[in-house]
Formats: sequence, C-alpha cells, structure tokens
Amino acid sequence: GKLVVLTCGGGNGAHCLAGLASVRPDIESRVLTMYADEAERWAANLDSGFIITVHNDDGSIKSIKTKPSLVTKDPKKAVPGVDYIFIVVPAFAHAMYFEAIAPYIDDNTVIVGLPGQAGFEFECVNLLGDKAKRCTMVTFESLPWACRLVEFGKNVEILGFKDTLGASLLKGKECNLTKPIIETTQYILGEKPKVRHVQNYIAITLMAKSIVHPPIMYGKWSQWDGKPLSEKPLFYQGLDERQAELLSGVSDECVATAKAIEKKVPGLDMSDVIHVFDWYLNYYSDQITDKSNLMMAMRTNKAYDGLVHPMKEIEPGKYVPDFTYRYMAEDVPEGIVPMKGIAELAGVSTPYLDEVITWCQGKLNKEFLVGNKLTGKDLKDTRAPQKYGYNKLEDLFTGSFEVTPR
Ligand code: NAD
Repeated sequence: GKLVVLTCGGGNGAHCLAGLASVRPDIESRVLTMYADEAERWAANLDSGFIITVHNDDGSIKSIKTKPSLVTKDPKKAVPGVDYIFIVVPAFAHAMYFEAIAPYIDDNTVIVGLPGQAGFEFECVNLLGDKAKRCTMVTFESLPWACRLVEFGKNVEILGFKDTLGASLLKGKECNLTKPIIETTQYILGEKPKVRHVQNYIAITLMAKSIVHPPIMYGKWSQWDGKPLSEKPLFYQGLDERQAELLSGVSDECVATAKAIEKKVPGLDMSDVIHVFDWYLNYYSDQITDKSNLMMAMRTNKAYDGLVHPMKEIEPGKYVPDFTYRYMAEDVPEGIVPMKGIAELAGVSTPYLDEVITWCQGKLNKEFLVGNKLTGKDLKDTRAPQKYGYNKLEDLFTGSFEVTPR
C-alpha cells in the first residue's frame, strides 16, 4: 500500500511538507492541525489543492500544484494507519501534538521533529509513555526550507532549500521497522536538502540553532537605558564584539560538553558538534563576504540582510524590545536550558550559558537556574533532561532506546 505521512501543524513549514509529500504518487499525505480554526479554513479550500511556489537559485520560479488527501483537527481521523508523523510547529506546540497522537499511534511509527529543537525526544518519550519504545524518533537540526505562507491553504513560497541537513535517530528497542528510515525520510522530502545521518540525538541537541538568539538579546539589551528607540536595530548585522564573544562563549561550552561526553561514553560520536563560527562557514560559505571572525561573518552574511530585533511599537515611531518573542520565549526553555542541563550532567561548567540564562529568565519572569544549578522552580516549563528525571549522564544513553542505530 501507500506510505501514509501525517504533517502536524498549519504554518509555513507544514504547508511545504504536506504539499511536497502529496506530490509522490505512492504517498498518502494527511494534515492534523489543531490550532484555532486552521483545519476548517484549510479543508474548505482543499478540493482545489494548493500551490508551492519554488524560487530556484538561478532566479527561475517553479509552481507545484499539490493536494493532501485530508486536513483535519481530529487526531482520531488523522493518526490511525500512519507510518510517518512529521511535527512541523514551533517547539512550544510540540507537547499538544504528542498528547493528541498518543492514543492513536500504531507500533513502528516514525515521529519526526522538523525541526526537533532541544529536548524533543525527552518530551516525546515522556508523553508517549511505553508506546515510544515501539517507535523511532527522528530529529532534524533545522527546517529544510526558508519558506513563508503567501495565502493560508492556497499558496506557500519556498525561498530557498538548505543543501544538506543533519538528522538523528533514536530508536525504541521494541520498534521493528524494515524500511530504512533516513532514506524514506529523504524520499518524503524530495531531492533537497541531502539528509545527513548524525550519529546521536544529543549531538543534534547541542547543535540546535537556538544558541544564537539569547546571547545576542542579552548582549544588546542588558545595558539598555529603557528609552524607546526611533528605529528597529539590525539583529545579526548590528552585532558588536561583546555579543559575538557571548555567542562564541556559549558555543565553546556546547563543544566542551560534547568532548566531555565523548570521553565518558565509549562509542559515542559527537564530532557533529562544532563551533558556531565553523557552522556559519560551512552552511553560508557563499553568502558571507568577511570570514575573518564570527562577528564579521555574521555582520556580512547576506542571508541576514535587513533582519531586525523583535520590537514593539509603543507609539508611532517609538520601539522597545519584545522579550516575549520566540528568540527568548522558545529559545531559552526549549533551547539553551536543555543544553545547560546536558552540560550539567556531563560535569562541564558553563559560565557563559549561566550568565545568559540568568538574564533571560529574569526577562521571562521565570526561575530555571539558581546560581549555576538547574534547580529553579520553573524547570517544569523547560525541556531540560533534569525535568524528566535524567540525573546521570548515562541515563541519556541507556534504557529502552538505541542511540546509534545504523
Ligand atoms: P510558523 O510560524 O508558520 O508556525 C505557526 C503555526 O504553528 C501555526 O500555523 C499553527 O499551526 C501553529 N501554532 C501557532 N501557535 C500555536 C498555538 N498557540 N498552539 C498550537 N499551535 C500553534 O512556523 P514555521 O515557519 O513553519 O517554522 C516551524 C519551525 O521551524 C519553527 O521552530 C521555526 O523557528 C523553524 N524555522 C522556520 C524557518 C522558516 O523559513 N519558516 C526557517 C528555519 C527554521
């Protein structure tokens, strides 16, 4: 029979995935979106299908006409019989979908975080319970496309494809899948990006791009005098030396954590965890004009042209920073806090992460960190391993899951 693929979500990325999967004649593509009235709005237009407008690198444009077989908000209709479930929403909405699919999920289902964001597997195992042992979790390090909805349910634009994209597998020991997972995932996505199998989920977690925003926010706004600005400052291209040092320091701590884990857990390959400067040089090499250091690489990255700080306009022409934006609200509890948690289990001290988290949690009115320990009362609102009862490094690599399936 057909491979049944379910997309969870109704945003930019969800339209792309559901649409690209539908194009394959041997895939049945379904959509589960539970947010507001998205399912009704999308389903109302489903008969006429929708368009993916692809902007190619050479400037040409291709239109793909596509049509998922089902769009619903009812997990009872969407989930039974599904082979692959892609969760394509911001991390704060993951839990809602894990809870929705849990009662209906079959054995041997593949659950894909596209992207996963830090702590995806911890949360999935926690909410799926024993069923997770009979499933496999796949985590992508980012979204495959730069994309945006032009008109909900009718037209989505792909502005660019990544060339390659890392993905890790965490396989339940009772999951019996015969079809190779990375290859099947590649088939669902299409030719681009080339999916690269990263050996383990902790390496993917330590490489999540959520490390970028919080240090830049902290560096920019911790010494702000509180006076509104007359324009929105550039986010990446306005980077100063202090911000670059903070980001570089946080990244050093993630790399040090990976090295410490590799020493303590025999057989684990953490070589995918590289410094953020090296990552920029690898991923954006054509877009960066000055590669002399991290600050200059970010300031001269064309992919960042014109991107500004998240700001609220409090009066016409007067702007203040928006600390509720996902750069803080998501990238701290589902980003750098889980990374700090892993560093803590690995016995690595993290002065930069601690400094950044301490300031961010104040702005978010939360307490995650007390001094340099993750013992704050709001740890329950994060995806740190400690929240789920992982208190030793080995806990991350033993139990009902295989971290290195090939
Ligand atoms: P998006 O902004 O389009 O997501 C919005 C969707 O999330 C909504 O349509 C809805 O389905 C769901 N949602 C929003 N609020 C919700 C709520 N309160 N409860 C439940 N569901 C809710 O997201 P996207 O652009 O598809 O990106 C998905 C992820 O990929 C994000 O983490 C984003 O940071 C990351 N990402 C996006 C891009 C891009 O080009 N769009 C690029 C790289 C990474």
